[in-house]
Amino acid sequence: MESSKKLKIAEIKGEVVDIEIKAKILSMSKREIQNDKGPLTYHYGLVGDETGVIPFTAWSIPGTVRDNDVYLISKCYTKSYKDKLRLYFDARTEFKLLTEILEVKRTYKYYEIKDLDMKDKFITVEGLLTSENKREYEKEGEKKEVFQYILKDQTGTVPISSFGRKLEQGKYARIEGVRLDEFNGYYRLNMSDKAKVEYLNVELKENDNIQDISTLKGAVGGITISGFVINMGEKSGLVVRCSECNQRVDDVRCADHPDAKLIYDIFAYFTVDDGTDYLQVNAGYEALKNIINISREYLDNPQRPPLKKEVKEKVEIALVHNALKIKGNLRINNMGLSMRSSEVSYVTNTDISYLKNEIKGVQN
Ligand SMILES: [Zn+2]
Repeated sequence: MESSKKLKIAEIKGEVVDIEIKAKILSMSKREIQNDKGPLTYHYGLVGDETGVIPFTAWSIPGTVRDNDVYLISKCYTKSYKDKLRLYFDARTEFKLLTEILEVKRTYKYYEIKDLDMKDKFITVEGLLTSENKREYEKEGEKKEVFQYILKDQTGTVPISSFGRKLEQGKYARIEGVRLDEFNGYYRLNMSDKAKVEYLNVELKENDNIQDISTLKGAVGGITISGFVINMGEKSGLVVRCSECNQRVDDVRCADHPDAKLIYDIFAYFTVDDGTDYLQVNAGYEALKNIINISREYLDNPQRPPLKKEVKEKVEIALVHNALKIKGNLRINNMGLSMRSSEVSYVTNTDISYLKNEIKGVQN
């Protein structure tokens, strides 16, 4: 009897029959379809070896086959499906479980920062490496280093941590095999020394790329939107903070620091509509200072404490029904996306021509 032809996944070219591969089942799902003979169940997924990955369809598969296990798979074949090569298993295909560890070579889909999505966790990104910060930590008694950057592309920013490897700050890099994580509502990228880094000669243009709210997906930073404020939250306006811990104080003193001085600050939360969708935004004094007509001296005046009603009115007049340009970082929670703004300004003429095209029926 003839034996199957042994191939690595990268060596599989075109439609071949009766091949043998040593591969790891990376994922496996079950699907049921109806054909003329009745219901038909099959499995599909991804297998990989040290040279690459390939999708498979299994018309028949032993019940003992599990994902994350490595098998010697013989008597399988390939076919082209929608212009892509696919591996097929049927009743003739044999699976022999192996105990060895197989390092799978993966290919990672490229994402622009604005489009990062937790559905795809191992990815390729590109961008300018800025704001380097080194941290040391201990792991199993050994001193380790992590280098943190803000990665910036044409669409947004995201923090990236490189474990054990210093990257070149100020350079534009393409990084394959980073992991996307969410921490405290914000996205961040982590990379081990296995990630592939390539420095490219790309010049990043400095501009405010105004994004349609409907296209925002993930909790990334450096986002600019432009739209009308359609309402402001009732508790917006003057807030009191403890000078010790900076926490908001609703009573006359901080529960933890009853002797601490109180400082006045401004906080507003409001809804912005750009004609494609709406977004909840919040902003403090620093973000709002250019539009609210309230000076720091007014807030800090010991002779005359700021008036709650007056402050709220001023903030409301500055925000509600006005067209604004808002920069900030997106955050995600169970209510969806919101923005923590770092800078709010009135739109300029050039921004307005953009808005005229985008806003339909918001302002009458
Ligand atoms: Zn306090």
